[in-house]
Amino acid sequence: MPFRSITGHRLLLELVARASIRGTLPQSLIFAGPEGVGKRMAAVALAQLANCPAPAGEDACGVCRSCTRIARGVHADVVVVEPGETGSIKIEQIRDAIEATAYRPFEGRRRVVIIDGADAIVTQGQDALLKTLEEPPSTSLFVLVTSRPDVLLPTVLSRCQRLRFGRLAPADVAAVLIGEHQYAEADAYAAAALSDGSIGVAIEGGADAFVDAREPAAGLLERVAASDDPRRRLEGAKALTASFRGGSDREELARRLRALSSILRDLGVLLSRADERCLANADLRPLLLRLVRSFDGDRALRAFSAVDRALESLERNASPKIVADWLAFQI
Ligand SMILES: [Zn+2]
Repeated sequence: MPFRSITGHRLLLELVARASIRGTLPQSLIFAGPEGVGKRMAAVALAQLANCPAPAGEDACGVCRSCTRIARGVHADVVVVEPGETGSIKIEQIRDAIEATAYRPFEGRRRVVIIDGADAIVTQGQDALLKTLEEPPSTSLFVLVTSRPDVLLPTVLSRCQRLRFGRLAPADVAAVLIGEHQYAEADAYAAAALSDGSIGVAIEGGADAFVDAREPAAGLLERVAASDDPRRRLEGAKALTASFRGGSDREELARRLRALSSILRDLGVLLSRADERCLANADLRPLLLRLVRSFDGDRALRAFSAVDRALESLERNASPKIVADWLAFQI
């Protein structure tokens, strides 16, 4: 899958592609950023570009023998290392990868070692990598892919050029879900709204769980929107925590809070009269239009940051009920 079929990260990917073509790309790279935003795909696309005999513009062609073999994971010069069943990347895996780069490429121009989940490399493995990352053989390229770069040894970090992948816009996530994962449009937008900018999170969460999470979130907002009555607010908190089903309450509330912030973000879109195509919950338009009458920009923003704080407290182990009650009085 060449760069052009990756969603989002346009500027970053263009820079990487251009540097690769010019031969100015550092040979030891870290692709850092949240899970499920396309970091590994970008590393594979880079391996394709570095080996494609007939690039299309500033991108691999994607269809030649080299490109398709890399995409299928069977190209002799492109190695993907990832954690095994133990959850860690063992020193032997690292040694094998380093050894492979000592030889000239078999079928392509560049040996590319992609270490996906690089934060899982055992410490001795990271130590073993240091020398190679410092001075990689001229025909090789190392790409460490990780959502937790700070777990890597500082000595590893300092030898690599770090490139940051951001979160995807909800519309981008939805487009991928519709185009590549056969989601219906409404489900895709709902899942995208709650995905925190990650296609991985959107798919793992499942469209149903996401759609379900919006209902209690909307229930809270509808109860507190037009009333200051403390009883309505407590009812709102109850609506937010209603019928927790399966999984842990904490996770479920976190999901509902993310639903809440995506609805609040949409209120901001409507209030600023921005393009309605930016709405993450376009299918909830009637609800949004009802709510927007009670929310001015300040209130939406205040509510938005209160939800953020609620999510933080939840992560720090505050009780879901207390968090919900507190939040209902902040919105
Ligand atoms: Zn090609």
